[in-house]
Amino acid sequence: MKLVQNRYQIDGLDVIDICEKYGSPVYVYDTSKMRYQFEKMRNAFSDVKMNICFACKALGNINILKFFQKMGSGLDAVSIQEVQLGLKAGFKPKNIIFTPNCVSIEEIQEGVRHGVRINIDNISILEQFGHLYGNTVPVGIRINPHIMAGGNSKISTGHIDSKFGISIYQLPHVLRVIETNRMKVEGLHMHTGSDILDVEVFLRGTEIMLETAKSFHELEYIDFGSGFKVPYKSDDYYTDIDLLGKDLTKLFKKFCKSYGRDLTLIFEPGKFLVSEAGFFFARVNVIKQTLATVFAGMDTGLNHLIRPMFYDAYHQIINVSNPKGKQRIYTVVGYICETDTFGWNRKINEIREGDYLVFLNAGAYCFTMASNYNGRLRPPEVMIHEGKDYLIRQRETLDDLLRNQVEVEL
Ligand SMILES: *Cc1c(COP(=O)(O)O)cnc(C)c1O
Repeated sequence: MKLVQNRYQIDGLDVIDICEKYGSPVYVYDTSKMRYQFEKMRNAFSDVKMNICFACKALGNINILKFFQKMGSGLDAVSIQEVQLGLKAGFKPKNIIFTPNCVSIEEIQEGVRHGVRINIDNISILEQFGHLYGNTVPVGIRINPHIMAGGNSKISTGHIDSKFGISIYQLPHVLRVIETNRMKVEGLHMHTGSDILDVEVFLRGTEIMLETAKSFHELEYIDFGSGFKVPYKSDDYYTDIDLLGKDLTKLFKKFCKSYGRDLTLIFEPGKFLVSEAGFFFARVNVIKQTLATVFAGMDTGLNHLIRPMFYDAYHQIINVSNPKGKQRIYTVVGYICETDTFGWNRKINEIREGDYLVFLNAGAYCFTMASNYNGRLRPPEVMIHEGKDYLIRQRETLDDLLRNQVEVEL
């Protein structure tokens, strides 16, 4: 988003015009930023065979999936429904990695029937898979290297108490299951959580994974998951993807040489690809001055953007209606009937009732986590692609709230 002569624009389009055209609140996605991030990542690993699999759960609109598919991305799916969406969006089955957690063997079997790559994250299912398929269907194994990472315990997945992956300490058991059932392990996978700051943490995970990989002889890929950090505050920083690319490439090449085969490196970024490409616009209904605070009350709430309340996430808030206004301190809140705060004590250009505010970093885990709580309708989604705006999801109506409800005679 750029300020041009006192008006904010995204890819040349005036954001107030967009808000007025589609109504408030509205999610807006800029594909040029997604492309930039995708290419940045691809360039950082240009020296090895590397596939990027976009993590569908971050932003699941079919148009966004198609956009990534056209750019040459694969897909990371965590449920059979995401697998089906991916197939619908045109991904080839082999370019979809199915990495569910605690799902039934029936759901895994459905994945096999679709021909997608399967990643198994517990020994019980691994055994059942082995009994069913033996060496006829290759499989990936999700390892938990017990690396503590991530900005918040809800998004850390690699620590000792985590439900994700098969512990690295259970490797002997895994190998016994593999050998007894003559299973073909084509990949190893790790995903240590979201918001990993430190390249060092990644490299530590990498070393553990490559050491583990020596115990498997038919590998085709190693999947390092994701967790790359993107800035949410203006003084936040990125995971240094170029540095990671350089260091990890070195380790990986050395490993491939001793392994005797060139393996494929896989990453599954969600946030890194789409977080900054998303903007959530909403209007201020009321300015409410209390004894201690000035509240800006919005026409949206945690039903549309839950990350601040759920993860204590920080989303920068800008008044796009008054870019030159004097800065004042506001607490920005939603209309939901429970504590529903988007930001405390934020310095924002003076807000008047009716102004449009924007929440930045609204591309990842925002719309996909929206709900109908308080009987509210979910907002529309708009995609800006090559300088044009497209409605890619309609605003819900009352019919959507009633859909699937069955009225009975009392
Ligand atoms: C959520 C998830 C990702 C994406 O994580 P980000 O932090 O959004 O990059 C990747 N892989 C798996 C298995 C996941 O569950």
